[in-house]
Amino acid sequence: MSNRDVIARDLNAVWHPCTQMKDHEWLPLVPIKRGEGIWLHDFDGNRYLDAISSWWVNLFGHANPRINAALKDQIDNLEHVILAGFSHEPVVELSERLVEITPAPLSRCFYTDNGSSAVEVALKMSYHYWKNCGNPNKTKFITLTQSYHGETLGTLGVGDVALYKETYKPLLMEAVTVPSPDCFHRDPDMSWEQHSRRMFAHMEAALEAHAHETAAVIVEPLLQCATGMRMYDPVYLELLREACDRHGVHLIADEIATGFGRTGTLFACEQAGIVPDFLLLSKGLTAGYLPLAVVLTSDHVYEAFYDDFATLRAFMHSHSYTGNPIACRAALATLDIFRDDDVIARNRALSAHMRRAVAHLEDHPHVGEIRQHGMVLAMEMVRDKSAQDPFPWQERRGIRVYQHALTREALLRPLGNVVYFMPPYVITEEQIDHLATVAAEGIDIATRD
Ligand SMILES: *Cc1c(COP(=O)(O)O)cnc(C)c1O
Repeated sequence: MSNRDVIARDLNAVWHPCTQMKDHEWLPLVPIKRGEGIWLHDFDGNRYLDAISSWWVNLFGHANPRINAALKDQIDNLEHVILAGFSHEPVVELSERLVEITPAPLSRCFYTDNGSSAVEVALKMSYHYWKNCGNPNKTKFITLTQSYHGETLGTLGVGDVALYKETYKPLLMEAVTVPSPDCFHRDPDMSWEQHSRRMFAHMEAALEAHAHETAAVIVEPLLQCATGMRMYDPVYLELLREACDRHGVHLIADEIATGFGRTGTLFACEQAGIVPDFLLLSKGLTAGYLPLAVVLTSDHVYEAFYDDFATLRAFMHSHSYTGNPIACRAALATLDIFRDDDVIARNRALSAHMRRAVAHLEDHPHVGEIRQHGMVLAMEMVRDKSAQDPFPWQERRGIRVYQHALTREALLRPLGNVVYFMPPYVITEEQIDHLATVAAEGIDIATRD
C-alpha cells in the first residue's frame, strides 16, 4: 500500500473535518501509517515531526509505551459500561485524582466524550443552577471576541470565529460579546498587563448591564488558540474572577486546549491564582489517545441539583460513552506521567529553548510579533510590519508554510497568517531547532511577492 492508494480510496469515501474537499485536487492528503514519539510516518516512508500535537491533543508522543500498556490492560478487563446506575474503577480513580490536582472548591467531575459537549454541559449546568436557585431569568452568556469553544450549535453561539459561525448564525443563541484582551492589538508602549487591564473595562461594563440576565462568563484562560494563538495577561482573569463574584455570575474556564501544561503551568488559571466555577478539560486529558472530557465544579453547585426526583432538579444529561473506562485509563496513565516525571519543569527549559530558536525572526520584515505562553509559541505573519497590517485571508499564505514544512519532515499547520509550535512534550532541543529552521524558510517562502 502506498500513499497514492490510500488517498484514492480516502477521497472516495471520507468527508474530512474543517476542509473544503475541493482543495484536495491540488493539496495532497497525507496518509499516516504509524506514529512513534514525535514522528508520524506515511505509507511511502516519509516522516513528519508533529509540531502541532495532532490538533493540540498529544502530550507524550505517539504510541507512548506507558499509555499503551495501561490501555492493553484495560481492554482485557472492561471496555465500556453504562455510567448511570453503574460505576467502575477507572472513572472513580480519575475523578479522585482530578479533584486532587485542581484547586478547591472544585470537587465534582461530570464526564462527556468531547470538548464541545463539555462546553454544552457547563452552559446548561450554569443556567440550571440559577434556575434551581429560583433565578430562571439568567439565560444569557458573556463571551470574548475571537473565542472558540467548539462547533456544535450551542458552542458556536458562545464562540466568535466567523469562518465557522457566520453561515449558521440564524440557528444560534446570541451571546453578549465583549472585546478580547488580545495583546497583539495593544499600543506599542503598553505592557501585556496594562493592555489586559485596560480591556477589562469592556467586561466590567457588560457585567454591569447584563449580570441580572447572565448565567456565566466563558473564557479560554490566557490563550485563544483557534483564532491564531492570541494571548493575554493573567491579570485579566484576576479581575474577571472578582467581577463575576461581585455580580453574581459564574465563571467558566474552558481549558480544553490550555490544560495539562500547555501554557507553562498545569492549568492556565493557576497563573492568575483563580478558581473558576466550572473548569473544562479535554484534549490533553488522555494525552491525545481517546475522546474524553470533563466538567469540574464545586459541591456548592452540585448541591443545588441534589433533591427528591419529583422536584425535577436533577441534571438530566448524558452521552452514550460518558466516562468510558478505556478513555479514563488513558487519562490515568497521563496523570501518572505528570506525577512521575517532572514534566512542567522540563517544559520550562523547552519553552525557553523555543524562544531562543526563533529569536532571529524578531527582525523579519514580515513577522509582526512572536508571542509565547509556555509550550505554545506563535509567529504572526504581516504584510507590513510597522502597520501590523495583515495579509488578506484569501491569499492563504499559511498553506505555503504548511506545504514547505511537509517537504522538510515537519507538520506545521498555520492558523491563517499565524505560524505556531505546540509540540508534544517529548520534543528535543535539536528537534525544536529544526522546526525553527523550517518555520523561517516557510515564512520566507510564504511572504515572498
Ligand atoms: C478544541 C476545543 C474545544 C472543542 O473540543 P472538541 O473536542 O473539538 O469538541 C472547545 N474549546 C476549546 C478552547 C478548544 O480548543
